[in-house]
Formats: sequence, C-alpha cells, structure tokens
Amino acid sequence: MALVLFDLDDTLIDRSRAYRSWAEAFVDRHRADGHDESTVEWLIHIDEDGFRDREAWALRVKDRFRLDIPDEDVRAALHADYLEHYRIDGDTVAALHRLRKAGHRIGVVTNGPPTQLDKLRRNGLLEVIDGYVISDLVGHRKPARAIFEEAARACGGELAGGWMVGDSAPADMAGARAAGLTAVWLHRGRTWRKAAEQPDPWAVANDLPLSEPIPDGWEPDHLADSVPHAVEVILGA
Ligand SMILES: [Mg+2]
Repeated sequence: MALVLFDLDDTLIDRSRAYRSWAEAFVDRHRADGHDESTVEWLIHIDEDGFRDREAWALRVKDRFRLDIPDEDVRAALHADYLEHYRIDGDTVAALHRLRKAGHRIGVVTNGPPTQLDKLRRNGLLEVIDGYVISDLVGHRKPARAIFEEAARACGGELAGGWMVGDSAPADMAGARAAGLTAVWLHRGRTWRKAAEQPDPWAVANDLPLSEPIPDGWEPDHLADSVPHAVEVILGA
C-alpha cells in the first residue's frame, strides 16, 4: 500500500480539451455579435494554458464580448460556465477505483486558486480520493517539498514509497524528485528532453523567480500515455 499523488489539470482531467469545448460553446452563443472560429483561437491564445492571472483573463473576455456583468463578478460567472465543460473521463475514474481497491491512498496536489476545489467537487472526485492540497490554500506550490508533505498529511499516508503522476516537468516531476516520490510523467505527446528544458510557465507569467532547474540527466522513473496507463504501471510495480 502506497500514497499515490496526482496532479489535476491536464492529468486527471484534460484541461486543454475542457477549455476549448467551453470556448467553442461560448463563441457559439455570441455568433450574432460577429464572433466565429477566430475568436475561439483568441480565447485559447489569451488563456496561456491556464497560467495567466484569471482576473485579468476574465476582464479581457468581458471586454471583447461586451459582457454586461460587473467587473467583480465576471470571473465567477465565466468559471461557473467553464465548469460545465470540465469533466473527468470514466476510464480515469475507473482507474482510481482500481488503485483504491488495491489498498493505495490517493491524493490530488494542484497548483492554483481555491476554485480548484469546485473542479474536484463537480467531478465527484472527493468521494474517490483520500485528500487534496491546493497551493493557494496552503501557501506552498509544486515543486516545493512542503506541498507534498501537506498532501501526505491530508491523505493520512507517507511520502516514503509513494508515487507522483503528472504532466508538468517543472512542477510535478521536479516536485516528485524533491519529495522522493517515484515519478510517472504523462508525456502528452512531448519528449522529456524538451519538456525538462521549459521553465515553470506560472513563474514566468507571474514574474517570479524560477525554481531550480531539473538537473541534466535526471529523468522520470516511468512515462505514461494516460492516467489508466500510469495506474497499470503502479499496480504492476
Ligand atoms: Mg498539470
């Protein structure tokens, strides 16, 4: 029995797909105002894979679509609309159940605002996992070891002998390394060498100091195509 930690966005749930789906539906509702596929592409561009400040992002959307919503409410309104598109796959849920049945403890470790909790709730994840940690609620971000220690506490498990599954090299894999976890990288069609060179996009977007780069030659312990694949690797270990 081990602690198995998962990243949320673009790991447990395909955030890129959810955002595109929301953008297409949103533009569809505003076609009468002249919006089309080019506005979908604009929405994807200004999202910067979710690493842009969400208040600033919401105000840009409000401006472009001339939304009749007060500035202080626009982010919440768009978030509620977006959540409708943010859905976990059935095979991912089934894989989490398999892990649990095998006696493992499951946690979610996500960098992001408190509204990350809405994503867990909305997808029924709180019933499947043992605990979660959201960076803005605990004051530590991946890759810092402290956030993984919080996760172990939240799940009632131990980092020793544990696993980390995630798509981000600078957050999830550097974090697994810092926390002494066995690292499973969701490659999402990328090569490790290229991903390992990328600085943390969140730190870049927020003009913050970059965390330690991943040392040359360090690689994740396993590569996986999907969460069910990662779970197979863990159960087979
Ligand atoms: Mg991610």
